Amino acid sequence: MADPTPIKIFDTTLRDGEQSPGASLNHQEKIEIARQLEQLGVDIIEAGFPITSQGDFEAVKAIGKDLAQTTVAGLARCVDRDIERAAEALRNAHKPRIHVFCATSKIHLDHKFKKPFEAIVEMSIKGVEKAKSYVEDVEFSPEDGSRTGIEELVTITKAVIEAGATTVNIPDTVGYATPEEYGRIFSELRKRLPEIDANGIILSSHCHNDLGLAVANSLAAMQGGAQQIECTINGIGERAGNAALEELVMAINTRSDYYKNYTTRIRTKEIFKTSRMVSNLTGLTVQRNKAIIGLNAFAHEAGIHQDGMLKNRNTYEIMNPRDIGVPESKLVLGKHSGRHALGDRIKALGYTLDEDALNKVYEDFKHLADRKKDVYDEDVEALLDRRLSEGRKLFELVAFKVTAGTDETSVALVELRDSAGTQIKDTAHGDGPIDAVFSAIQRITNVSVTLEEYTTRAITGGKDAQGEASIRISHSGKKVRGRGVSTDVIEAAAEAYLAAINRIKTMDEIKAERAEEDPAPAQP
Ligand SMILES: [Zn+2]
Repeated sequence: MADPTPIKIFDTTLRDGEQSPGASLNHQEKIEIARQLEQLGVDIIEAGFPITSQGDFEAVKAIGKDLAQTTVAGLARCVDRDIERAAEALRNAHKPRIHVFCATSKIHLDHKFKKPFEAIVEMSIKGVEKAKSYVEDVEFSPEDGSRTGIEELVTITKAVIEAGATTVNIPDTVGYATPEEYGRIFSELRKRLPEIDANGIILSSHCHNDLGLAVANSLAAMQGGAQQIECTINGIGERAGNAALEELVMAINTRSDYYKNYTTRIRTKEIFKTSRMVSNLTGLTVQRNKAIIGLNAFAHEAGIHQDGMLKNRNTYEIMNPRDIGVPESKLVLGKHSGRHALGDRIKALGYTLDEDALNKVYEDFKHLADRKKDVYDEDVEALLDRRLSEGRKLFELVAFKVTAGTDETSVALVELRDSAGTQIKDTAHGDGPIDAVFSAIQRITNVSVTLEEYTTRAITGGKDAQGEASIRISHSGKKVRGRGVSTDVIEAAAEAYLAAINRIKTMDEIKAERAEEDPAPAQP
């Protein structure tokens, strides 16, 4: 029997995933995630779209330089300055790739470009040639590929391969394809273009989940002949998201009897850790019933199932939680745990803090252990989240005091410190203590926002459990999340509210920076 075909996993959590509404990662957070993705064994990391912001440029630059084993891609339109910027960001990368794209579907040509298809092919060839003048490894994507006619796809694929593209990705940009038709695109291309096989060109899939078909479509593409799959951790991404890496890989592994001709390099035991990290740092919580990594995915609560489970695991469980790295028992730290023990725990969670950062987290940890007997992984993650988000901490909570009761208006006194170190106090009234705290924060920070959603939950068990507050606010049409964790629910709410306001403030800065470029270019 022939060896199975290695499928390259192209992770775009830091590019397409980062475009999820509300998820904006800072520099340090992106680096932590990239390092963990390398541990996970992905083949390619798309680290950003360098022309769109200084932040994306810096991320591509730093990650390319940092990672020795993984190919790092930067996205660019088929426009000279986009490609130059991507090349500049990738100049010192160990394994650079420039990913250029150009829309090809009729709907895009008629409404966006107002250009004939021939002009698009010309533009794409120029883009690929330009990228090729900087790097050997060039990927091309016809944006909205799944809604482009097969004749056009054949023409453009042939043209960009001649121009030097080594990977051709056919994105289902709007999540419209069905598995059979999407898979057929790949088999058709391979059949009609012998140069694909002859030159070792990789075809790639990129699926969005608007109809919930992203993973099914990606698997169909693979069976049709795609040898690279683009996906994100937890399936995050624009709108309904991208194909979820963990679902894809576990489908291939769990059904190795069926997908026996395919294999990936993913170390599945790193999946759980990576998923947790991405969810913590982006603030995009994983739904409980999410396949593979949701809290309920391996929990069997119905009595009948439990009975079956006791007799034989395989009765109701097709995967072993251990395979994706779910820890077997809860490790608990406490007041007497040393810096070394905390450091080990942090490493086990997938983070790579330097000495200085570790010392700071240890300070926070000791402070927490004074208030809480048992410190769980979730608590440690919350401490890390707070420390890593410091880059965007424009305002910090210093202290607050609230009076509240059944028959009185709540009053809050809040004290914040701004980035210059100035402490500012103010008081406000509200319907209840949390409303009063929010009003006081708004007065001090002077950002006008509307509260859209506020939820709180306990992240660990016990009476001294930490409460997590999640907040969604809107500000001039933009929705932003914030998360805060504390043993005190009001403090958690205040932290979450401030985190969201800090995000808005950083976004305003990024927007000012982007305004010099042209407005938000579309992407595959
Ligand atoms: Zn996409």
